[in-house]
Amino acid sequence: MDTPMFCYQCEQTAQGKGCTQVGVCGKSSEVAMMQDLLIYQLEGISYYANSLLKAGEKISQDIHWFVIDACFATLTNVNFDPTRFYAFLKDAQKIKSELKARAGKVPGPAPLAAVYTLPENEAQIMADSKTINIRPYAQEKIDIQSLKDTLLFGLKGMAAYAHHAWVLGYHDDAVSHHFYKVLGAMVDDSLGAEELVGMVMEFGQVNLACMALLDKANTETYGNPQPTPALITRKKGPFIIVSGHDLHDLAQLLEQTEGKGIHIYTHGEMLPAHGYPGLKKYTHLVGNFGGAWQNQQKEFDKLPGAVLMTTNCLMEPKASYRDRIFTSGVVGWADIGHIEADRSGKKDFTPLINKALELGGWTEDEPEKSILVGFGHEATLSHAGEIIEAVKTGQIRHFFLVGGCDGAKMGRNYYTEFAEKTPKDTVILTLACGKYRFNKREFGTVAGLPRLLDIGQCNDAYSAIQIAVALSKAFNCTVNDLPLTLVLSWYEQKAVCILLTLLSLGIKNIYIGPSLPAFLSPNILQFLVEKFNLTPISTAEKDLATILK
Ligand code: SF4
Repeated sequence: MDTPMFCYQCEQTAQGKGCTQVGVCGKSSEVAMMQDLLIYQLEGISYYANSLLKAGEKISQDIHWFVIDACFATLTNVNFDPTRFYAFLKDAQKIKSELKARAGKVPGPAPLAAVYTLPENEAQIMADSKTINIRPYAQEKIDIQSLKDTLLFGLKGMAAYAHHAWVLGYHDDAVSHHFYKVLGAMVDDSLGAEELVGMVMEFGQVNLACMALLDKANTETYGNPQPTPALITRKKGPFIIVSGHDLHDLAQLLEQTEGKGIHIYTHGEMLPAHGYPGLKKYTHLVGNFGGAWQNQQKEFDKLPGAVLMTTNCLMEPKASYRDRIFTSGVVGWADIGHIEADRSGKKDFTPLINKALELGGWTEDEPEKSILVGFGHEATLSHAGEIIEAVKTGQIRHFFLVGGCDGAKMGRNYYTEFAEKTPKDTVILTLACGKYRFNKREFGTVAGLPRLLDIGQCNDAYSAIQIAVALSKAFNCTVNDLPLTLVLSWYEQKAVCILLTLLSLGIKNIYIGPSLPAFLSPNILQFLVEKFNLTPISTAEKDLATILK
């Protein structure tokens, strides 16, 4: 019997329950089902990989890389191109067969995902994708399904971070092996709720290690971010807008456009790039364009320049800019220009560069305006002495971390209102694209520091954790005892892995919105509320009053 499309991995899922005909994100049911089949194949791969690892055998780095990228490709707003999923599926079958042959007879009955064989023919693959069910517990064991989905969606988020570290030459077997552990758990019927809760907490710690690896990769490659003004107005001349999170793509493009008279603008989550010494040294990295990802169809409309989408968040390109938007890496949309890396990881951005030159760019300079970015852990903690003194003398009353992903849904104005209503003797730390709701507003200073400190991308949640841990050490208390409240907005699966890391660190009293994840069953939600006091946002006034009382 055919299984209809079902996806509820992100915050904008249809009616807060699940997308069943087509994704609110624009994902077709065909692609949704192929993504599920790909996860199914990865579960089968993991069954054999876990058996081999247990026997002390090695899995090649190529296979680790494949599994990470395949998971990343299924993250919200990354890849919508069926052709790319056929290729992933066929490669997955080859890898599974190879590992199966190496593993030999594994004790116990093999899960169906392990013994399944992908057909050769694409029409048959599509037919098969309609019959598999990667949520087998959804009807009768909803809490088990909820915990497994929480793990799976967290893993998809971690895949993005592992990918970004990897392209800079940083990987860690402990992180890579955890992909097999989590994917293998999806098809392990013996796991009960208690074991899965333990796995969720363990996953949070592995994701912390993965974010630390990415922080190391970014800072060792491009230097520690420094407070830097980023221009938010336009300059005359040809330009390329670079969106997404991949600093390596941006660096390669900056190298290839040097001296060509092309301005490079960051977009969305690429904004923090302006703070990295190894990137800001390029004088043609001139500024930041636009707001958060969900405004791209309006902002890219008839743009006289070219756009590069390096990671999520891609939306369906409109006809008015289809000829000038390019994807790279795991990102994809059918019939959109795509730039792939060669075997050494190098990408040739010539088609993108030529398009920018052909389009000619903006014809006038706008009066200049800029915002300050670059408050990673090193830059912020270089002011630790002043910050601690300001807290002790009462100049700083409270810290808020207001950040996370942005999205299109109503209710996200909460974060703008919250930031605006914070008292003047408080500091707002922010990260990820949720900040676009308020990062161009004037917040003034407190104790000689800007009141709004932009820590960086979503993965720079690692920086926020470092800052919180350093402050807790300075005040000889736990993070939960600090005058610090986390007010988070979530949208896709990277937010899930960050939340799991925060919970695994025992961080309580987190406010979360704009709505709760549909994949949390009532019992699992109640568990999180009771154990961690995870609190759904209400109104900015009410929450501020509760926090500051
Ligand atoms: S990723 Fe989100 S919007 Fe897209 S199909 Fe899944 S739940 Fe729906």
